[in-house]
Amino acid sequence: MAEGPLATAADPLGERLESLRRQLPPTTHLLAVSKGQPSSRMRAAVALGMRSFGESRQQEASLKQQELADLEPLDWHFIGRLQANKARAVLRQFGTLHSLDSWALAERLQRIAAEEGLSPTVFLQVKLRPDPGKTGFGPQELRQLGPRLAQLEPLRPMGLMTIAPQGLATPERLALFQECAALATELGLKELSMGMSNDWPEAVAAGSTWLRLGSALFGSRSSAEP
Ligand SMILES: *Cc1c(COP(=O)(O)O)cnc(C)c1O
Repeated sequence: MAEGPLATAADPLGERLESLRRQLPPTTHLLAVSKGQPSSRMRAAVALGMRSFGESRQQEASLKQQELADLEPLDWHFIGRLQANKARAVLRQFGTLHSLDSWALAERLQRIAAEEGLSPTVFLQVKLRPDPGKTGFGPQELRQLGPRLAQLEPLRPMGLMTIAPQGLATPERLALFQECAALATELGLKELSMGMSNDWPEAVAAGSTWLRLGSALFGSRSSAEP
């Protein structure tokens, strides 16, 4: 691994990472959500052994990919709302997509991935509770689509992704993540992208395989949501 600037006492990134790694089971991967963070912060994370980064804006990610092009290739995950007109750019830039939220988008991605000779890993985003402003498949919709997931080649559907609505109490969040895990099992999908800075312990308890952590790792973001 390349040597790089280590986090200093003024930058708790190293401590946060180490503490998280101690607490996570080996089956849970850490996705460092670097949206709103400059590439220098990502460089510091890479020096601490991080390789997988989550971004939610295609253009912001494109810029950082250029700035970090001297590093060994990183593992880029797209976690934002996927606009149809950005599909080709996103497919070229990211090996994993966490936010496949409609069948129309799945078919579009499938067609473009085939044209580009790409076979990205995809997560289907599922919406298990009413949540204004959030998208996703309904659980019943996913059950009906289940048999067709195998026909999405060259996309590789590996798991479900969910976002817990704001304001749920801890037991309710745990129940929601457990529901998501049960649905993934039912569909034969192994991976679970769930858990953010404010709810990751419940997500881990429910079997998350990918935590998407931004502020819990990097501190607060400079740019606006999402
Ligand atoms: C921003 C974002 C995260 C990370 O949020 P934090 O609360 O900073 O951990 C995770 N998942 C998605 C989809 C996001 O947009």
